[in-house]
Parts: sequence; C-alpha cells; structure tokens
Amino acid sequence: MLQRLRPAVLALLALTACQSPAFNPQQRQPGLQAQSQLTRTDLLAHVDGEGDILRLGATEFRQASVKENLSQSTQGELTLSAGQSQGRFVSAVLKAPYAFDAMMPAWNSNGNVQLQIRTSIDGQSWSGWLPVMPERTMLLPRQAAFVQVQAVLSSGTAAPRLEGLSLQVGRNRATRPAQKRAHSIPKPAMILRAGWKATPPKGEYTPHTPAAIVVHHTWMPKAAQYQKDVSIRGIQRYHMVDNKWSDIGYHYIIGPEGVIYQGRPETVVGAHSTPNTNYIGICVFGDFDPGQDAFTPASRAALLDLMTWLTAEYGIQTSEFFGHRDFSTKSCPGDGIYNQLQSFKDEVTRRLRAAGVLS
Ligand SMILES: [Zn+2]
Repeated sequence: MLQRLRPAVLALLALTACQSPAFNPQQRQPGLQAQSQLTRTDLLAHVDGEGDILRLGATEFRQASVKENLSQSTQGELTLSAGQSQGRFVSAVLKAPYAFDAMMPAWNSNGNVQLQIRTSIDGQSWSGWLPVMPERTMLLPRQAAFVQVQAVLSSGTAAPRLEGLSLQVGRNRATRPAQKRAHSIPKPAMILRAGWKATPPKGEYTPHTPAAIVVHHTWMPKAAQYQKDVSIRGIQRYHMVDNKWSDIGYHYIIGPEGVIYQGRPETVVGAHSTPNTNYIGICVFGDFDPGQDAFTPASRAALLDLMTWLTAEYGIQTSEFFGHRDFSTKSCPGDGIYNQLQSFKDEVTRRLRAAGVLS
C-alpha cells in the first residue's frame, strides 16, 4: 500500500507547491565565488548528468514562445522590463532525450519568480500547467517526451530575476520499502564535507527515507584526471552552477584509491537519477564503459563496505541496488560496474548474514 501511495503523495506535493523559495547565488554561495577563479579544466567538469538534463539559459530565454514585459540582462538572465509589475515567459517546446515519467526541475532566481511546467507525449496535446518547486521530483501520470516551462516574474521587495533552469528527466519505478533492523556493521571511514572543503548548500534539503541505492560513474572526468578533493569540488561546482542544483547531487563519491567522500546527507533527497526520493546516489570516480578505466579493487572494496553499511543502517533490500541506467537511457555506471550489481547483492547479503543482521 505504501508503495502505491508514494507516487500519489509525491505528485500531490508537486501540485500543492506554489511558492518557490528565492535563491540568491551571489549571497548564498560564497565558496563558489572563490572557486570561480579556477578554470573549468582545473575543476574537471563532471558530465554524468548530460544525457538526461535539459537546460534553459540565455539562448532558450531568447527563443521564447511568449515573453511579455520581460528583458534580458547582459548576462542573459530574465528580468522585469522597466515600469512593469509582472512579466511572463513561456519557453519554446523542448524535446526530451527519451520518453520519461519523472522530472526534477532546478533553477536559480531572485525575488518573486514562480515556475510552472507542462508536458506532452506528442507535442500536440498537453497536460495542464503544474506549479513546481526546485529539486522536487514530479511524477507524471503518463509518459511524456516534450516539455514547456512558464515563468512569472512579479515585482516585490527584490527585483525578480531568473538566471537559468535545468530539468532532469527519468523513469519512475516503485521501490520496496526498507525494513530496519538492529546491526553492528561499522560505518566505513570517509572524508566529510569539511575535509574536501565543500560549499554550503544554497537551499533547504528535503528529508527522505533511504530505500534503494543507485550507483553512478563520473564518466568524465576519467580516473587518470582524479585530483582528490579538487575533483570533488569540481563535481560540486558543476552540479550547483551548470545544473542549478542546491548542492553536490550525490550522497557519496568514491575515488579510484578507495577513499569515500561524503556528499549530501543520505537522509535527504539527492539530485542524481530522477526520481531521487528514497534513492541514495553513490558515484564511483572513473569511466567504466567498455575499454575505458578499470574498476579498481580499492574502489570496489570501498563501494561494497559502503553499500553493506547503508543496507544495514537503513534496512535497504538488496533487490533495491540499481545503476543509473535503470532510470535512464544512459550507460552509467558503465558495464564495468553495472555487470557486477548481482555480485554486490550476493556479497552484501553474505556479509549481513555473517553479522547476524539477516537470517
Ligand atoms: Zn549517473
């Protein structure tokens, strides 16, 4: 019953959300200002998200279907035209890379900016406009392949401004609820956020109950480009600046030498493989598509230790171990890791039985 209810509850949350919190990247991301002195190459931009993310920025704002009482700043942002109290933007029709039934919008804005999204399977007949909140997954009642975004900017205490928007699309699947049990599995050693000098999140996290694990690879950068905490900050910057997410998207990142980095707390919704609610995202650094990086014994061991602890801690069922490709048409996390998912399930089950967590 819980399984059946969850999508309905989430859809209701998305529908009842009518006010989006205002983000001010200048005021609330001091770390990003400092990092912007580094070049993109230094930061090793991460592109795991590319295959399923639609972006709206200066170009898409120019190519609007409707643009009433709005101007574009020199940086390409949408602002209210002089003397206007309300303006409206409707994007051109955007085609998603594949048919989807889950979608997670994220954006940077100031002042009173309200966003709505509508979807269509054929680009002809459309859903109604649905109000959306940043990083809240929308579960659609039917599949869609086309999207349109509407933004209403209203005057208020702060001049309204929409800097940019991203939409991650994905395929929904029901998770089996977790079954918590007492356990004595140790939490693996890891580098906490302070240790890799993480930028603070720019908005409030949304709590969730972990019930499944999704494994990713960075794809780009590859293992040879790994520069420890510099690389993790690069991934965070890519997620916050390019994807408009509120923080690094993953809950954990594992380096080729087997070091585990903490991303978001696993008790809050991440941004990595829509739908994100109930899923813990773990990203292994490297490109594990055929003929690329080797999945090192050290990173495999760290991944198994982490999955074993998470499974025990939250009562996750090993049937709920996935790769990003299970929600997308992407190859992530590459055959090198994806083809080992069954061995992870077997090994974690064996360890939990040995520790008396499972009978
Ligand atoms: Zn991925």
